[in-house]
Amino acid sequence: MSEFTVLNPATEQPVTTVAQPDAEETDAAIARAVAAQRDWRAVTPGDRAGLLRRFAAAVDAHIGELADLEVAGSGHPLGQATWEAGHVRDVLLYYSAAPERLIGKQIPVPGGLNVTFHEPVGVVGLIVPWNFPMPIFSWGMAPALASGNTVVAKPAELTPLTAIRIAELALEAGLPEGVLQVLPGKGSVVGQRLVDHPQVRKIVFTGSTEVGSQVMAGCARHIKRVTLELGGKSANIVFADCDLERAAATAPYAVFDNAGQDCCARSRILVQRSVLDRFMELLEPAVKNVAVGDPAAPGTEMGPLISAAHRRHVASYVPDDAPVAFRGSAPDGPGFWFPPTVLAPVGAADPAYTEEVFGPVVTVTPFEDEADAVTIANDTPYGLSGSIWTSDVGRAIRVSRAVETGTLSVNSHSSVRYWTPFGGFKQSGLGRELGPDAPEAFTETKNVFIATD
Ligand code: NAD
Repeated sequence: MSEFTVLNPATEQPVTTVAQPDAEETDAAIARAVAAQRDWRAVTPGDRAGLLRRFAAAVDAHIGELADLEVAGSGHPLGQATWEAGHVRDVLLYYSAAPERLIGKQIPVPGGLNVTFHEPVGVVGLIVPWNFPMPIFSWGMAPALASGNTVVAKPAELTPLTAIRIAELALEAGLPEGVLQVLPGKGSVVGQRLVDHPQVRKIVFTGSTEVGSQVMAGCARHIKRVTLELGGKSANIVFADCDLERAAATAPYAVFDNAGQDCCARSRILVQRSVLDRFMELLEPAVKNVAVGDPAAPGTEMGPLISAAHRRHVASYVPDDAPVAFRGSAPDGPGFWFPPTVLAPVGAADPAYTEEVFGPVVTVTPFEDEADAVTIANDTPYGLSGSIWTSDVGRAIRVSRAVETGTLSVNSHSSVRYWTPFGGFKQSGLGRELGPDAPEAFTETKNVFIATD
């Protein structure tokens, strides 16, 4: 068993050391999950719902503790981390209603009665990235459990602490042993084993498109069900007819939230040329006013990047001769800090414009008209998120339909609401999470015909 030292990204000091399970321990956990699933699926819908509500209550009673863990282990600002812990509670509560509503169909057929059932797939392997350790864990875990599956979850190596604690809270709330297990191991060991193990019947993977494609290939060998939530390079499209002050004031938060380590980051701002100069005038103070600093301090809006290696990666997109239009601030001294950075004008081949930076770097590009905006927005292999700013309702609808992306918002930057489906077009993923249909994604439809003649 190897060990991993979790660092505080804001101080570079160790937080704690976590034992990393190996492949044999992963197999043992999967065996426990298989055994536990036989009983879990037999728990009556009402009792399963009740246990999920108790689990939500246990999370609710520990919001402060979970938030502090995320501040220390992931560098998330306290306000954001508190929201994230509350989001886990809300997602559990939302899906606690699902066991009693997994309703099949009665289909008219000759000669008998035909009904469909939503049967749990079995054991679900959940592979989570480091950028939103709590929310992304809950999006897979809660609907999977609600549908009668057991879950073996692998948090990212860098950020295992909150998932470990949430699994302890599940046990304290009365979920049976083996129903929810967290294995804080390496992707190449635990993650790979979840993909390769024949008794894991579905993988929910959130992470890079590169690893997601390997995961999909691994799942193909077993015809294993897979949901992929991958990278993004989303556009924030600002038309001349919009409330330009609001569009400029909110644009920094649409990309610098979580220090830009957000798959939904609107990292390409596209602005209609006729208002480009005015937009840049308005954007500059908004960027400079982003409060970057100690994540534990109230009022901090942006913390550090997750690691030294990731900061090197982000910095590679802003070489010395990069076209920096303006930048915000970042603390000196220890911590993996990187200031909010606006690049303009950028060439169409500039990696900062074409690749997912996953840091606080945004490009600004002018466009001429509606058709031009849609062409530029779609000129990417990704299709996860995006925003459209306009006061013309018809245009809002036309552009929403034309942009090839899974989650769009008009005159706002919202992406993830647990009531609504979330996921990507093109290389941003496969399948959808959240929303009312998520529990069915963890089931197989069984059709049963009962002869009456
Ligand atoms: P990553 O792909 O490096 O790792 C994601 C997870 O996969 C980690 O837990 C890692 O340990 C595991 N992993 C690594 N190799 C594996 C293997 N061979 N088999 C199985 N699992 C393996 O991604 P990351 O750097 O942690 O996260 C950043 C990426 O995640 C970005 O591209 C971002 O856009 C994406 N992301 C997408 C969404 C979404 O919902 N679409 C949400 C958040 C993050």
